[in-house]
Amino acid sequence: MEFMATSTSASADGGTQVKKAHGLSDEFYNEVFSEINYKDTFGIFPMMLRPKSRGEIKLRSNNPFDYPLLYHGYLTDPHDVWVLREGVKAAIAYGETQALKKFGSRFYAKPLPNCKHLPPLTDEYWDCAVRQYTLSIYHYSCTAKMGPATDPYAVVDPQLRVYGVAGLRVIDASIMPKITNGNLNAPVIMIGEKGADLVKYYWLTPSTRKKRDLRVQFNVKLGDKCPNITAS
Ligand SMILES: Cc1cc2nc3c(=O)[nH]c(=O)nc-3n(C[C@H](O)[C@H](O)[C@H](O)COP(=O)(O)OP(=O)(O)OC[C@H]3O[C@@H](n4cnc5c(N)ncnc54)[C@H](O)[C@@H]3O)c2cc1C
Repeated sequence: MEFMATSTSASADGGTQVKKAHGLSDEFYNEVFSEINYKDTFGIFPMMLRPKSRGEIKLRSNNPFDYPLLYHGYLTDPHDVWVLREGVKAAIAYGETQALKKFGSRFYAKPLPNCKHLPPLTDEYWDCAVRQYTLSIYHYSCTAKMGPATDPYAVVDPQLRVYGVAGLRVIDASIMPKITNGNLNAPVIMIGEKGADLVKYYWLTPSTRKKRDLRVQFNVKLGDKCPNITAS
């Protein structure tokens, strides 16, 4: 679990932008947040780092320009609801600390529309609330994972070269075999730096380049049992 502290909340801009980013309907926003429009607020987002729920991406057709079908499958595993519920409780406890109380910190406990029939602040209530108001953050990754040649799902080798395509590397967040805990920007910069070093090493080291050229010439894939190729 990661806790993201924000010096704002969905209501801080009176429902002009954040409401849209969170995918809230006007009806939901007005009922829950309109009475604190533009007030000074802060937020704590409990962010699940290792969800057990899994979604699916399917091809809509054999036309590559058709958008694929996305099924996010959020919260289909009850474990994830449990983790988020406990995260919400920890976030509320944070707001109750002396350090924040001295600034007059107060939890805004307005019940969510589809959960107000449940006793407030109970596990039952939070399980419902978690399902009603949740969102994903922008950490798209792992779609062209790095792995050994024996892994049928691997797209690139450990040097970030695309299997089966000569002269092509992928150097971005997509090559992560598993997403990192926490935000992606720093790990992606690291992948970029490493990728740049690999490219430089290849082009600036004649013997490496020659070996690669021979591999392509003889159609030898990485991981194959290689005939003795020696670079001269
Ligand atoms: C709104 C938002 C907020 C974020 N906030 C944070 C944060 O606070 N902290 C953090 O650590 N991470 C954050 N992230 C995540 C982080 O920024 C990204 O994970 C990271 O930038 C991904 O890097 P990347 O190189 O994999 O892809 P990108 O940064 O998306 O780079 C891909 C590049 O490829 C280019 N491109 C695409 N298609 C083609 C093509 N056909 N030909 C040529 N070029 C192409 C694009 O124009 C783009 O420049 C945030 C992401 C978003 C979207």
